[in-house]
Amino acid sequence: MSPYLFEPSARPVVPVEGEAAVFPVRRILCVGRNYAAHRREMGGDDRDPPFFFAKPADAVVPPGGEIAYPPATQNLHYEIELVAALGAGGVDVPVERALDLILGYAVGVDLTRRDLQSAARDKGQPWDAAKGFDASAPISAIRRWSGAPPTGRIWLGVNGEVRQDATVDDMIWNVAEIISEASKLWRLEAGDLIFTGTPERVGPIVRGDRVEGEVAGVGAIAFQLV
Ligand code: MN
Repeated sequence: MSPYLFEPSARPVVPVEGEAAVFPVRRILCVGRNYAAHRREMGGDDRDPPFFFAKPADAVVPPGGEIAYPPATQNLHYEIELVAALGAGGVDVPVERALDLILGYAVGVDLTRRDLQSAARDKGQPWDAAKGFDASAPISAIRRWSGAPPTGRIWLGVNGEVRQDATVDDMIWNVAEIISEASKLWRLEAGDLIFTGTPERVGPIVRGDRVEGEVAGVGAIAFQLV
């Protein structure tokens, strides 16, 4: 007999390129203000280090679908990001060993209800409603990866026009530093996804827009907002 009162929700999963087995998502951590030019456009102080926030695991949207325009916003923004997928965990992981936790990388979009984020900031309230809403984390398939992290071009386009165009190498905290910092705050485990922050020129999207993006060497993402 099942120990559960009702059938538990299915575990959110992300496909892995070329493999039948999928990546079961445990947690989604995100880095805020990890590119200097984006930190400036968000009104941040140049001395403030990046920081973490979270999305629920079931915010992931596997590749290939449409995404419904979310409720309660008039200002939905895209944020293209490199996503690190962990195949192992740890606590207080030194920077030199942090990349050992990596299973692979994916391309994600940190969808943001910017109007709710601005309101929360003004009132000193948390970001959950602005960042952690349903379907707020569309993601590509994961590409297995070992060794030095991606360093190349990261871009996002809307309806064929490039809006964000930068280099992953411009991150303030690199991937190893992000993992090491996160592991001081949480026990990391296999199945964790870390969105590593977005470069400058975030902006709004509306119903009907076609969003596409890429991180060189990692993969591409595309979805239609309906
Ligand atoms: Mn972001």
